[in-house]
Amino acid sequence: MSNKRFSLALHGGAGAKRGRDYGVEIAHMRGLVEAARDRLAAGANALDVAVETVVGLEASGLYIAGKGASPNADGEYELDASLMDGPTLRAGSVAALQGFKSPILVARAVMEHTPHVMLAGQGAIAFARDQGLETVEDPDAWFTRAGAFEDNHPPDALPTGTVGCVVRDGEGRLAAATSTAGVFGKRPGRVGDSPIIGAGAWADGHAAVSCTGQGEYFIRAAVAAQIAHRVRFGGQALDAAAQAAIDSVAALGGHGGLIAVDRDGNIAMPFVSSGLKRAALMPDGTIVSAAF
Ligand code: ASP
Repeated sequence: MSNKRFSLALHGGAGAKRGRDYGVEIAHMRGLVEAARDRLAAGANALDVAVETVVGLEASGLYIAGKGASPNADGEYELDASLMDGPTLRAGSVAALQGFKSPILVARAVMEHTPHVMLAGQGAIAFARDQGLETVEDPDAWFTRAGAFEDNHPPDALPTGTVGCVVRDGEGRLAAATSTAGVFGKRPGRVGDSPIIGAGAWADGHAAVSCTGQGEYFIRAAVAAQIAHRVRFGGQALDAAAQAAIDSVAALGGHGGLIAVDRDGNIAMPFVSSGLKRAALMPDGTIVSAAF
């Protein structure tokens, strides 16, 4: 019999500067958790809730994703996003997308309306236009460059502020969604982990994961899939699997964090960075939130 308790976690990125007050972000994240809880209580499925929550994070302009995007080194806004549905292993992703308000909705459309998993660059733009998804007319006026003030990063690292959500719904289905403008000041055409299925996002029947941090390291360590595979093939508890995976990022010299949920609804939110803006609905119904 499936465990009817649902749970979820969301994050607003691994970038967090000591001494800065994240009260606005925390209140916003808690509001999204409450909205997601109400949707799950009404029977919504994990994928819908993960996408709706990421849309809310993107639209806020508070994180380096969606409206909060920061430009690349050429002053252009190239956004990445991906999502995965645990029960079906279906996935969708967009990379280096320009000119659309919600990259996660484009990623969902790739999953639902193409035979592909990932579209990039001009092809992604043409597809999103065909789908009638909402465009950004004047990027410099629309995007808030939320990351421009996150000067917490080590001197050799770029600041980060991806958003993401993982959900276990009342039927035991898992889903993950991740969206980002990538690291601040990135090289044009650079694609990080966020749109790479298995690196920045993953969901199967065992775990759902969304990552944030220096994407190059998360790709090299296949962090999101690594966690699910540790649970599935290694028999590890979610906590241990998530910690081992984030430790593998640190071992390579990277930093960041992640959120994960398993099929029993357990939540893990480890990080090896100055902080991780995060909130979660735990399986016992309590809501937790923190930036550090
Ligand atoms: N992981 C993202 C990237 O490398 C950045 C972030 O988490 O803020 O593109």
